[in-house]
Amino acid sequence: MALIVQKYGGASLATPEKMLFVADRIIKEKNKGNQMVVVVSAPGDTTDNLIEFAEKLAKEPDSRELDMLMATGEQQSIALMSMALIEKGYKAKSFTGMQLGIMTDTKHTKARILDIKGAGKIKQALKDGYICIVAGFQGMTQDEQVTTLGRGGSDLTAVALATAIKADVCEFLKDVPGVMTTNPEICKEAKKIDFLSYDEMLELSSGGAQVLYNRSVEFAKNYGVVLHVRGTFTDKTGTIIKKEDSGMEKTVVSGITYNKKEAKITIKGVPDRPGIASYIFNKIADGDVNVDMIIQNVSDKGMTDISFTVFRKDLGKAKKLLDPIVKKIDAKGYFVDENIGKVSAVGVGMRTHTGIASAMFKALAEKKINILMISTSEIKISVVVLEDQVEDAVRALHAAFKLGKKKASAE
Ligand code: ASP
Ligand code: MG
Repeated sequence: MALIVQKYGGASLATPEKMLFVADRIIKEKNKGNQMVVVVSAPGDTTDNLIEFAEKLAKEPDSRELDMLMATGEQQSIALMSMALIEKGYKAKSFTGMQLGIMTDTKHTKARILDIKGAGKIKQALKDGYICIVAGFQGMTQDEQVTTLGRGGSDLTAVALATAIKADVCEFLKDVPGVMTTNPEICKEAKKIDFLSYDEMLELSSGGAQVLYNRSVEFAKNYGVVLHVRGTFTDKTGTIIKKEDSGMEKTVVSGITYNKKEAKITIKGVPDRPGIASYIFNKIADGDVNVDMIIQNVSDKGMTDISFTVFRKDLGKAKKLLDPIVKKIDAKGYFVDENIGKVSAVGVGMRTHTGIASAMFKALAEKKINILMISTSEIKISVVVLEDQVEDAVRALHAAFKLGKKKASAE
């Protein structure tokens, strides 16, 4: 018998039929003798729809009230799911974040979990034979204000709860069989990855793969919670995400990830003096714009060019910040390249294998894909290429590192 936390996303809960399917999926695990705690997101597009409604009433809705509103989405799911389970003859009970004492800081719409005071309530309900259905995404502050954890935050609820009740595993049920070597929609050779380290998962998601909320993976890493990303429609094992072990290093590259929605900004004629880069990037960070890659060119006559990438959706904000920055540092100006994307190869094996970068560049060169920027970390190599070459680059790298299905069946 295991204590299992399962998390279901909004897409799996969008209609009564889907809810009933999920109810049966939960029952299947319960009937094996497991204790089940299930974290659910709001049904379908509920959260988006609520935000859209709010934005028709207020340009920037008050964040306390926005949390109060958004938290209702998950409350619908817990009640509906519990009803479905009870109808099928099982004992089930729903819990809101407040009822469980999921304590957070006071940062509305992006709160951090500090403690789960009511973990004992779950333990008791499990002992009494209940399936516990918990609202994801929501918590409360010390003075009982409703908070939410950031978009996609139900993943974080699941991991925090798994930690608090010492669950054996925290499962994320998806419409894919696990974390894939790349997006199967653009590369049909993509296959399921069996094991990933926390760091690989973090790099894959920051590179663009939308699998788990990054903060939930960080939380799991800090507390050593084993994560299992698996398919809703299959019993097969999916991808296990856990602490790195020596076996993982055998795979040099685990996955190829990409993000087409980036933009490159180049500041021209930046005076090459200590403190200038710090000034630029502090101002940009203060303006709430995330900078990804940064490149500074060789200095010529005391002047240099600095290029960096941002998410395209932040471009408007970035431009507003840049006008005064350029003036203040006395640079020549800046220009923007909107049609770029980033492709990354991720794998812990890069630590011990050499030549990965050159293999990557060769594969891209053979497809005549020009590299605009390069950045590396210990377990990731990223390149910026033109947006319309991103998909070709993904396929080329997926093949070059032999991540495709064929290899899997030959093993
Ligand atoms: N319902 C929230 C959202 O859509 C939380 C979640 O889905 O995890 O962001
Ligand atoms: Mg959602």
